[in-house]
Amino acid sequence: MKKINFSAGPAILPASVITQAAAAVEDLDGSGLSILEISHRSKAFDAVLVEAEALVRELLNVGDEYGVLFLSGGASTQFFFTAMNLLNPDETAGYLDTGSWSAKAIKEAKLFGHVNVVASSKESNYNHIPKGYTVPGDLKYLHLTSNNTIFGTQFQSFPETDAPLVADMSSDIFSRRIPLERFGIIYAGAQKNLGPAGATLVIVRKDLLGTVERQLPSMLDYRVHIKGSSTFNTPPVYPIYVMMLTLRWIKEQGGLTAMEAHNERKAKLLYDEIDRNPKFTGTVSDDESRSLMNVTFVCTDDADTGRFLAAAEAAGCDGIKGHRSVGGFRASIYNSMPYEGVETLVNVMKEFN
Ligand SMILES: *Cc1c(COP(=O)(O)O)cnc(C)c1O
Repeated sequence: MKKINFSAGPAILPASVITQAAAAVEDLDGSGLSILEISHRSKAFDAVLVEAEALVRELLNVGDEYGVLFLSGGASTQFFFTAMNLLNPDETAGYLDTGSWSAKAIKEAKLFGHVNVVASSKESNYNHIPKGYTVPGDLKYLHLTSNNTIFGTQFQSFPETDAPLVADMSSDIFSRRIPLERFGIIYAGAQKNLGPAGATLVIVRKDLLGTVERQLPSMLDYRVHIKGSSTFNTPPVYPIYVMMLTLRWIKEQGGLTAMEAHNERKAKLLYDEIDRNPKFTGTVSDDESRSLMNVTFVCTDDADTGRFLAAAEAAGCDGIKGHRSVGGFRASIYNSMPYEGVETLVNVMKEFN
């Protein structure tokens, strides 16, 4: 039986992308070569990189003042890469602490400069996005995690500040429209909303670079990768190819306006059932903080948990077990999750007694 993949990541991809990606392993566009064996300096791969970058720019409205990079190392590498390239030892960056990934970014940034944790929801096990805080005026940048994959919370709007925003958008990039011009750096590991694990998308405003005093190793300097158009060294060729296919798919669906409507509709279906059905309780404390990508909930009576998991699995719903730090369930309903997939899960909830 084909399963419905609710995994938090690596995560579901569009069925058409999987088909094309599989075909390219055999033969890339009739070239007689597999995508797995072509040179990263070949014409064929250059065309992939050019198209992937063009799609990123088109979908998110990214101008020439930004570089678009396809790197390796995952979002976790960007936790230190961002601070290393932007923050001098005597400067301060603001961080919003909204989950385990934010906390990891904070830990790494402290290696390079001062960190001001402007707001945190840690005391309540990260069950909401903080509100009502003031952002200090003298920050080099303000870092946030736009969607907290583990805790099921998401910024619905971005904090007011004159500082450029630096955002980990690993789990909600391309899921909605964003005010791109407010961001200095956006980074995202591919494996949630973009492709398989192995590639990391980074969008970086060029005028922010070259302002740190420290020496940067070439591989850890954004300017080197911008100059080398992501081929300073061998980039993750296959993950970038699949990312390009996914970006094409997003464009075919109607771009970010269509993605946003699709994601809102799916999330509403599931949250409405969580709110209606006394057997289930959401784990996020206020509706405004609820994520459209990762929907977290528990069985109201913990004794039902194992039985519900078994019922969902019997209906083909895979990967809904919650993260150990929250418990219960987490349905990850990224861009590629069809509406019908969410309907299947909701039907299991409706019939559960
Ligand atoms: C998955 C995830 C990460 C970790 O990404 P890696 O690519 O494994 O380093 C970081 N931040 C967020 C928001 C994530 O969802």
